[in-house]
Amino acid sequence: MEKEIVSECANCGKVVYCHGGFLEGVQEGKELFCFACYEMKKS
Ligand SMILES: [Zn+2]
Repeated sequence: MEKEIVSECANCGKVVYCHGGFLEGVQEGKELFCFACYEMKKS
């Protein structure tokens, strides 16, 4: 399966990948967050 680097998490700097069309993070406005940071932001 294709795995492309999309960007880095705006909070922790971890590389966020896209796996065959599935983004391993959350885009919010102009910023991209990994799931861990997005979960922390929500709470
Ligand atoms: Zn992060």
